[in-house]
Amino acid sequence: MNPKQVIGVHRAGSSHWVGDGFPVRNLFPSNGVDLNPFLMLDYAGPKHFAPSAKPRGVGEHPHRGFETVTILYQGRVAHRDSSGSAGVLGPGDVQWMTAASGVVHEEMHDPEFTRSGGMFEAVQLWVNLPGAHKMSKPGYQELTSAAIPVVTLAGGATARVIAGELAGTRGPAKTFTPVHVWDLQLKEGDRAELPVPDGFPAGAVLLNGSVRLNGTPLEGEAVLGLLGAPGAFATLEAGAASRVLVLAGQPIDEPVASYGPFVMNTEAEIRQAIDDYRAGRMGRL
Ligand code: MN
Repeated sequence: MNPKQVIGVHRAGSSHWVGDGFPVRNLFPSNGVDLNPFLMLDYAGPKHFAPSAKPRGVGEHPHRGFETVTILYQGRVAHRDSSGSAGVLGPGDVQWMTAASGVVHEEMHDPEFTRSGGMFEAVQLWVNLPGAHKMSKPGYQELTSAAIPVVTLAGGATARVIAGELAGTRGPAKTFTPVHVWDLQLKEGDRAELPVPDGFPAGAVLLNGSVRLNGTPLEGEAVLGLLGAPGAFATLEAGAASRVLVLAGQPIDEPVASYGPFVMNTEAEIRQAIDDYRAGRMGRL
């Protein structure tokens, strides 16, 4: 069994606000990184918000052709969408939303967090859908912290298995293609061997801390270590307490046409998405 090669170490390609609630560092694709089947990763915060009377966040907007995955670390987010789903995410919770044929939704700080203020930290990940499912019915999985299994790895690290499988434990997320999402916490001196399948490109996103990924140092905050598809495992060694989000998936070998919140296979499908949204065919809040 050969290890995967580290093929790049990348910092955020852009820092910007999403609405007025989410100050994000974009770990891809703004820096040119392609991590098929993942389309985008924004790391929001950590940032302290003062108490406020006015809810902050991002108002009504559409998505079509992929899934949005929100992993909350600190703070609280309230969301609602045009398919009738609504809920509040707290620390440790994950929302796995299948936009597929289209939803319109809003993502806001919840009223309690708005009033109290405090630290906010979250990740939003976009996962592509194969063409055969881009126009499927929208769906929504609320994965509470309690529903996400935690495994302790041989080298001492712990991992929350959000999607896929690790150490014989399956995560709760139902996915359309094979995808692993592991949320690791390492103490200084911990070592983790990650069985990332041969043929799956992968990324280790250091949210904070100091690790060596197959010997290559990742230091500080918001650093992406990119692993190539060949090879069947990678190792992490922590030089300090660290939090690392590991993503790996079977690439979707199809053309990608994207425009803002729409990710399809062809430009004609993008034009259709824009028309459908404008005409209200993705629903309304
Ligand atoms: Mn959204």
